[in-house]
Amino acid sequence: MNIWCVGRNYADHARELGNSVPETPLIFLKAGSCLHKGPTFELPSWTQEVHHELEVAFQFDDQLELNCVALALDLTERHFQNQLKSKGQPWTLAKSFKGACPMSPSQSLKDLGGLAAILDWEFSLEVNDQVRQRGHLREMIYPLEVLTEYVKKHFPVSPSDWLLTGTPAGVAALKKGDRLLAKWGLFPAQSWEIQS
Ligand code: ZN
Repeated sequence: MNIWCVGRNYADHARELGNSVPETPLIFLKAGSCLHKGPTFELPSWTQEVHHELEVAFQFDDQLELNCVALALDLTERHFQNQLKSKGQPWTLAKSFKGACPMSPSQSLKDLGGLAAILDWEFSLEVNDQVRQRGHLREMIYPLEVLTEYVKKHFPVSPSDWLLTGTPAGVAALKKGDRLLAKWGLFPAQSWEIQS
C-alpha cells in the first residue's frame, strides 16, 4: 500500500511557508508503513519540530476509483524539511518517518452522500481546544479529478493506496501531551493524543 501526497495544494498554506504555487501537482510519497491507526501517537526521539498537516485522505478501490475517505495527519519534520529543501534534496526524512501518517477509521464515500456532499464540508483541526487549521476541499488548487488523473497517469497506483489531498494554512509544531481533534462535516470526529 502506498501513500501518495500532494504539497502546496492550498494557496494560503503555500504562502505561509513562503512557497510558490506549483505549475503541476507536487507529488511525494510517504511509505505505506507510515500509516498509524489509533487514538494516540508518538513523536520520534530525533525530531525537533514536527508539524501537523490535517488532510482529507481518499482510498483507491480495485478499479482505482476513489471509494473511501478518512482524516489523516501528514506529519512533517519542518526543521529537516527546510534543510532538505534548501539543498534541493528529497523530503523522505521529513515526511516518511515512523508513524508519520496517523489516520482515522475510513468511511465509504457512498455512505457519506458522495463527492458532491463532502466538497461542501469544512474540515478543521483543534490542538488543545484551539482551532489551528480550517479548510474546504473546494479550496484545493488541483481539484480531486485533476489530482487522481495526474497520479494515475504518472505513478503505479494500486488498489487500497491512499491519496492525501494537501493541507490548508495553520500548520504548527506539536509537542508531547498535545490533544488533537479533527472534524469534518458529518464525518465522525477523530481525536489523537501525543504520548509523552
Ligand atoms: Zn501535507
